[in-house]
Amino acid sequence: MKKPLIMTPGPTGVHEDVRMAMAQDITNPDLDLGFFEYYKETCNKLKKILNTKEDVLILDGEGILGLEAACASLIEPGDRLLCIDNGIFGKGFGDFAKIYGAEVVYFESDYRNPIDIEELKRFLEQDNDFKLATLVHCETPAGITNPVDKICPLLREYGIISIVDSVSAIGGEPVEVDKWEMDLVIGGSQKCISAPPGLTFLSISQRAWEAILNRKSPIKSFYCNLAIWKDWYEEKWFPYTQPISDIYALSCAIDKIFEENDYIRRHKKIGEAVRKSLIKSGLELYPLDGYSNTVTTVLIPEGIKFHEIYDYMLNEHNILIAGAFDYLKDRVIRIGHMGENCKEEKIYITLKALDEAFKNFDIKLDGQLHKHFVEAM
Ligand SMILES: *Cc1c(COP(=O)(O)O)cnc(C)c1O
Repeated sequence: MKKPLIMTPGPTGVHEDVRMAMAQDITNPDLDLGFFEYYKETCNKLKKILNTKEDVLILDGEGILGLEAACASLIEPGDRLLCIDNGIFGKGFGDFAKIYGAEVVYFESDYRNPIDIEELKRFLEQDNDFKLATLVHCETPAGITNPVDKICPLLREYGIISIVDSVSAIGGEPVEVDKWEMDLVIGGSQKCISAPPGLTFLSISQRAWEAILNRKSPIKSFYCNLAIWKDWYEEKWFPYTQPISDIYALSCAIDKIFEENDYIRRHKKIGEAVRKSLIKSGLELYPLDGYSNTVTTVLIPEGIKFHEIYDYMLNEHNILIAGAFDYLKDRVIRIGHMGENCKEEKIYITLKALDEAFKNFDIKLDGQLHKHFVEAM
């Protein structure tokens, strides 16, 4: 299998050190007490990225498991849940909530803009009788970062427990779980953390734990049940065998993030330069505001089709870029400049190839994408 350079918004490239970490010899993670310490240390590293003193758990499944575990553990049938929706993942969260019996009310906000906090304030003044709210930090298909720093404290004012999908933001955008009063925050291994796909992690506030542990009805799942994890460390007991090799990789990937003193600044700088170069060349970004520093979504101009760009990039340059799905299918291309992908050289060769791809199909650009990028850096 010929492996391309994956410039997609997850999974992202995995550093050789991380791959080697994964190849380490294993122990029995159910029995070896040393592994309980290793798991705990890895959670502590995640707490540092998340800026939290609350509990963090790593679960054996991709990001979607984290979303579902949050819903399964927090929602009781009939609970009112506010689904804050300005994109595909935002809306989809409501579907997960319905599976577990929530009465879902949608707050829909414009899909090309971040959540409008003033509009949300007015909405909550009229109706705030919610136990829970779901929201998405970075809407990956659209390339929009939502102001979770303002939304979560607002929800807290009304006593609403926030469930935040931060899968494509953690490790690339600032995340201040405690300061921003976020209750349950979900991340994944394969986005900005740049470990292989397969793990999700969650931070769980005291308030979220209280809601999980004091339910009237039992949690209708085992794999998605967070309550059974409450005393894993004290009891030296995991609900199921831990994916030790994946956790080796995750731990090493986080170390790599901390080797650099300012990964957030790197994402901001490169994100801005990518956007500037696309705009300068005459292309149009999908978001109108709230631009993500981990992924950029650009509209496909008239005269060229998604698969033409995609195939050209892959066949001529061995670079994999992404499209999107749902209502954005065939309308946009996406460059994931997150984690290991967020490196000047990788972006340069991607934009150079993209520039060639457009020109090959007679799409006129102002200047050259990669040259604009160099200037913007
Ligand atoms: C990637 C991602 C997930 C995980 O979903 P997959 O489609 O299975 O990768 C969840 N939420 C967001 C916002 C994501 O970007």
